[in-house]
Amino acid sequence: MNNIVDVIVVGSGISGLSTAHFLIKKGYKVLIIEKDEHIGGVIKTDRIDGFLVEYGPNSTLDTTPILHLLFKDIGVEDDVVYANPLAKNRYIVRNKRLQPVPTGLLSFLKTPLFSKSAKMRILKEPFIPPSKKEDESLSEFVIRRLGREFLDYAIDPFVAGVYAGLPQELSVKSAFPKLYNLEKKYGSLIKGAILGYWQRRKQKERSKQSAPMLSFRYGMQTLTDAIANRLKDRIKKGVDISSIGYRDGLYELRLRKEDGEYTLTSRALV
Ligand SMILES: Cc1cc2nc3c(=O)[nH]c(=O)nc-3n(C[C@H](O)[C@H](O)[C@H](O)COP(=O)(O)OP(=O)(O)OC[C@H]3O[C@@H](n4cnc5c(N)ncnc54)[C@H](O)[C@@H]3O)c2cc1C
Repeated sequence: MNNIVDVIVVGSGISGLSTAHFLIKKGYKVLIIEKDEHIGGVIKTDRIDGFLVEYGPNSTLDTTPILHLLFKDIGVEDDVVYANPLAKNRYIVRNKRLQPVPTGLLSFLKTPLFSKSAKMRILKEPFIPPSKKEDESLSEFVIRRLGREFLDYAIDPFVAGVYAGLPQELSVKSAFPKLYNLEKKYGSLIKGAILGYWQRRKQKERSKQSAPMLSFRYGMQTLTDAIANRLKDRIKKGVDISSIGYRDGLYELRLRKEDGEYTLTSRALV
């Protein structure tokens, strides 16, 4: 069997499903290839003894209107639930006391979380030249640009929560590509953040810091199930890709399923 489609998308996580959704909306013929039986990648929700259990993400940030476009297309707008705004408050322990994490310039200037010299050090950031290195650890990057205290009392607690890792062992380029690119593009994180703010305003987007957090009444899998239900037989699950070739402008995927081997051909591959 050999079929030609416009696009083959590998993986039925939220990236693959939403890519396929928007491509199909534009009129492309799309197929998703998924190696597992479960659709949705790391997004998986269960109900156990009346409790909602999330195996992967439990929420997402409402940063862009594109999310709501997707929710409307797939009919899940009414199931969206927002987190209590109080849950946005974050605290970090310093000198055995919980200190609120500053959320604006004024609270940053007043906070006892950072010493006066640490605050002055952060203000120097726009004048520090960008690194010429291709990559460095997150801790080297933060100490160089923002100083040691910022690493210990802002970055370290955040990284422990998200990556369960140490800043000196994480590559800034791989784990924090946005920070890395701010320095490469604007030469400064503060300059980049200010220019990024104006760009987001133009595109009606919100920063992660200011965006509300949302989930769905019946959990995050509502999202992936709703997209998958619309894609139906455009998702081939339980399929192994044994090889990928490219010839004469076409991708050729050799696929293995329980019932045998077959080939799919596409003009583009995601
Ligand atoms: C425990 C956990 C908690 C998280 N919490 C949050 C959170 O609260 N908020 C948040 O915003 N983010 C969170 N994240 C991150 C977020 O869930 C992921 O960034 C996002 O879901 C990744 O989606 P994806 O489609 O890119 O990848 P995945 O969900 O990993 O999907 C990739 C898919 O590709 C398939 N695949 C891989 N290789 C092949 C192959 N060769 N052939 C065919 N199929 C293949 C896989 O089986 C899988 O289905 C969390 C992640 C984890 C693991």
